[in-house]
Amino acid sequence: MPVCPNCSYEYVEGITICPDCGINLVDEKSFVKPEEWTEQNWEVVFTSDLEYEAEMMKDNLEGAGIHSAILSQADRSFPAPGDLSVVKLLVPKKDVQAALNFIEQLKNRPDDQD
Ligand SMILES: [Zn+2]
Repeated sequence: MPVCPNCSYEYVEGITICPDCGINLVDEKSFVKPEEWTEQNWEVVFTSDLEYEAEMMKDNLEGAGIHSAILSQADRSFPAPGDLSVVKLLVPKKDVQAALNFIEQLKNRPDDQD
């Protein structure tokens, strides 16, 4: 069954373009719910110019049960001018507040205590 990747509306076989959005429909099986995986529904909660820092934070978040993904701009040919934070850590929008709270707790934890 064809599905519109923009509005998620399902159409009958034979329809190839969403009349509302004017874009090509995709097969239901290849369709991933936007609210789950597309970048526009993820928000940056942590940035670093060091990839290992972002990966450490990712591990911490995963340990707290928060799914996260690393978006690295290090290999981009044309990094945004003035943006020195090349590694971004993203979480789904629904987990943004929990992730920010968690990161804040980590920052407030003294480094010299174990
Ligand atoms: Zn549509």
